Amino acid sequence: MVVAAVAVGAFAAAAAGQTLQAAGQSSPSDDIAPLADSKNASAQLGGGIGGSSSAAAPEVLMVAKTSAAPVEAQKIASTNQIVQARAAAIAAAKAEAERPKFVRPADGSFTSGFGARWGTTHYGIDIANSIGTPIVSAADGVVIEAGPASGFGLWVRILHDDGTVTVYGHMQDYSVREGERVKAGDQIARMGNRGQSTGPHLHFEVWDADGIKINPRTWLLEHGVSL
Ligand SMILES: [Zn+2]
Repeated sequence: MVVAAVAVGAFAAAAAGQTLQAAGQSSPSDDIAPLADSKNASAQLGGGIGGSSSAAAPEVLMVAKTSAAPVEAQKIASTNQIVQARAAAIAAAKAEAERPKFVRPADGSFTSGFGARWGTTHYGIDIANSIGTPIVSAADGVVIEAGPASGFGLWVRILHDDGTVTVYGHMQDYSVREGERVKAGDQIARMGNRGQSTGPHLHFEVWDADGIKINPRTWLLEHGVSL
């Protein structure tokens, strides 16, 4: 503390000395140097007394600008908001354009195709995986039915914009309700083993706009999805 006090005292003394020196420089007997300094600065801006007044003028303008600054700041802020909102809208449109419109309805093994099987007709395809595997809507659409169905145990039917209906069966449970709008890839249910099922799998059907059951694998392939 003593050392610090001495140091501070020395610094204060040195500062005082500088102040005295500065006062000495601006004394009347030696006034050329300091006055020349300030007038040279004025002269560079505009020269002599005229320079002083013109140098003062920008300060007045600065005050005027300061009072207008909040309005300008608001304009800039609202412009930024518009730019940001536009960028967000463009990004959202891009994401919407680029997202897949058709997806495979579940991950798993393709275990059975569409057509004749065991002396009857299999009107869908089977994708096997463990119970609880997410089942998603294969395309955008509206849920037209979700609940119990003979043979299916539980089923969900989704009407798509072109009149096609996709059907999902044997689920453990479902998480959508009639009238709900879904997008391709939205989870609608979880894989199960209900109804006429010999192991956990999704039974997936596609009915065309006339109600004809068509090959889901072909339908998916036509929309860029392979199993
Ligand atoms: Zn099946």
